[in-house]
Amino acid sequence: MITKSTDTQETTRRRIALIAHDHKKQDLREWARFNRSLLTAHHLFATGTTGRLLGDELGLSVTCVQSGPLGGDQQIGARIAEGEIDLLIFFWDPLEPQPHDPDVKALLRVAVVWNIPVACNRATADFVISSPLISQRYQQKLPDYRPHIDRPSPPGASGGEGQAA
Ligand code: PGA
Repeated sequence: MITKSTDTQETTRRRIALIAHDHKKQDLREWARFNRSLLTAHHLFATGTTGRLLGDELGLSVTCVQSGPLGGDQQIGARIAEGEIDLLIFFWDPLEPQPHDPDVKALLRVAVVWNIPVACNRATADFVISSPLISQRYQQKLPDYRPHIDRPSPPGASGGEGQAA
């Protein structure tokens, strides 16, 4: 296990990513409105349409990436892998297939890989946003991925036959 502090210099300012599928946007709108004053203390990121909703309707300051189906989920996932997101609020729709279902799965997976808290419904989001840990130092535990990173390449993986000139 590797221990990693998720605290930035401003220890209570978390980097929170918010995403809601279309049929869940109303849920997120209501949740964010109720928790608006808590959310303003943090740096918010969101996929395009979700971010516009939070910015336009609630006046929250949000760093927007692409819309989810256009690669936004992958952009948020990349930020998680870079250690730039502390918490994911992701109201995905359990009743509707999405064109970008592989991206949704990948995002949830990478959030687990990097051990960040993930809230997929309002109840969990309520618990997370009201946790005392949101404003305290937190030593995040990460598995030791070095054996994976340092593992030898499989035979023949270093080039040779079949490579374009
Ligand atoms: P959106 O994307 O905020 O652009 O609607 C959300 C999603 O479907 O991942």
